[in-house]
Amino acid sequence: MRVGIVGAGFSGAVVGRELAEAGHEVVIYDARDHVAGNCHTARDEDTGVMVHEYGPHIFHTDIERVWEYVNRFGEMMPYNHKVKTTVDGKVYSLPINLLTINQLFEKAMNPTEAREFVAGLAETDVDEPETFEEQALKFVGRRIYEAFFYGYTRKQWGVEPSQLPASILKRLPLRFNYEDSYFNHPYQAIPRNGYTPIVEAILDHPGIELHLLTRFDVAQRGDFDHVIWSGPLDGWFGFAEGRLGYRTLDFEPSRHDGDFQGTPVMNYGNYEVPYTRITEHKHFAPWESHERTIVFHEYSREAEADDIPYYPIRLTDDHELLDRYIELAEKEENVTFVGRLGTYRYLDMDRTIDEALTAAEGILTAVADGNPIPSFFVDPH
Ligand code: UDP
Repeated sequence: MRVGIVGAGFSGAVVGRELAEAGHEVVIYDARDHVAGNCHTARDEDTGVMVHEYGPHIFHTDIERVWEYVNRFGEMMPYNHKVKTTVDGKVYSLPINLLTINQLFEKAMNPTEAREFVAGLAETDVDEPETFEEQALKFVGRRIYEAFFYGYTRKQWGVEPSQLPASILKRLPLRFNYEDSYFNHPYQAIPRNGYTPIVEAILDHPGIELHLLTRFDVAQRGDFDHVIWSGPLDGWFGFAEGRLGYRTLDFEPSRHDGDFQGTPVMNYGNYEVPYTRITEHKHFAPWESHERTIVFHEYSREAEADDIPYYPIRLTDDHELLDRYIELAEKEENVTFVGRLGTYRYLDMDRTIDEALTAAEGILTAVADGNPIPSFFVDPH
């Protein structure tokens, strides 16, 4: 069949590759002048540093087939991500670990003492935390929540944490030892030459035709037997029911001599500091050395119509609109919605690739069995 794919990020590229390898004719459109979507990387001319143009992306996974997949298309370099946070003029270790707890409370507790201490801080009147705030209060208590989560989260999401789902906080671990790796996954890496060449390699197949700087119009769907849409779910419907909320990011780059902050990511927990974090890109490639450095001050705000959508907000009371779009999408024929934007979910790269592989398998099975191809291969609720 002839398949149109909208978006040349990981979702579109992986589905496209799998379908092309199975002998289908694939045409991919992307409105930007590069592939890899928000994972796009490019070398900065002045400093020579590999820059994650849309903010840092650290590849981490425990999914074997995803790890094998990325390694097929590029060289992954071992990388152990660490993050620090500055709060009230002091630097603390993240994610919350024994050092963070001892630093904040100016103590020297051992793991057992700290566990009991934090259990004593926890406000446990809520059984099943639904919001970010309830989850945090139950998990770590008010003092830790206010120091490390409240200000950062309000800046990042633009709303009170009491309006955010608990799932966002569940991304972060709490450790009672001095382990300060940001992620727990067994595979953690950054591609030697950035993400863009990996996506280019995935797309490098004779069955794939790529059109950059080309906006796909939904009216073109008739040119294809099937369309894979990795653009915003509401965008497919021309935003007919209203707009789903997204946060967008503004990056303020600056270049300096030497080492700016000595670490890849410094978060700023205080609400009064206008940026959420400063990222220093040369520290994402510790196998390289550069005399100069480029840093991004990162600001978060609500996405307007022309902004690049980054994070789906999914406020607890946003779900009605989302449900309406899901219902419309499920009724559509000959289109499948994939990826972070297509399913309106906060997705890491590894999950994105895994889901794209699952979608491609599902499409191929449906075609082989002569069944209609589903609109979703995940539950977008
Ligand atoms: N978070 C926080 N303080 C921090 C770091 C994270 O409150 O110092 C919260 C914040 O709400 C953030 C969420 O935890 O959106 C997930 O953090 P993660 O580092 O996974 O965010 P990402 O790097 O994906 O933006």
